[in-house]
Amino acid sequence: MKILCIGRNYAKHAKEMGSAVPKEPMIFMKPESALNFSGQMTYPTFTTNLHYELEVVIEINQTVSKISKEVAHQYYDRIGLGIDFTARDIQAKCKEKGHPWEKAKAFDDSAPLSELVAKNDYDLSKLNFKLWHNDKIVQDGNTEDLIFDFDHLISYASQYFTLQKGDLIYTGTPEGVGPVQKGDVLKGYLEDKKLLEVSII
Ligand code: ZN
Repeated sequence: MKILCIGRNYAKHAKEMGSAVPKEPMIFMKPESALNFSGQMTYPTFTTNLHYELEVVIEINQTVSKISKEVAHQYYDRIGLGIDFTARDIQAKCKEKGHPWEKAKAFDDSAPLSELVAKNDYDLSKLNFKLWHNDKIVQDGNTEDLIFDFDHLISYASQYFTLQKGDLIYTGTPEGVGPVQKGDVLKGYLEDKKLLEVSII
């Protein structure tokens, strides 16, 4: 399986990163070895600026290639919450050199994922999701602010990559990203339900 991630898919996040709002989806990937269900994130030795990015994740339900936006909704049934952990210091160096940024984004355990829930139980056009960082809400996002919605992302990605059952799309983070320290606890809520908890160790 593969993990597709979407960069800068919320305008206010693009702004906080000093980046332009993209005209088409910006895609990068993480390998399967990035997936993390352990509830723990070991602070990597190669960074001193590990950031959380809470994202809504969708799971592809069957093999699909080159489809339109209009039919894309048939190709996912389940959604969840994930964190796109980012070594912000390494990412800045990669950007500066014009290098790919996998070292900053695709490292081991960098993609915690919650349990998945049925998409039909939710209104995907205005889905609220929040991240608690210890005792503070730091990200409070809503899918109504997505630049490219889920169907658009699936259609767009499928023009380039055959999507397979079990593939995941991390659909981008809203504003409020920030650093974590060892001992911190992150909790992700979809509407009022806690789906994800990750301790930094
Ligand atoms: Zn992200």
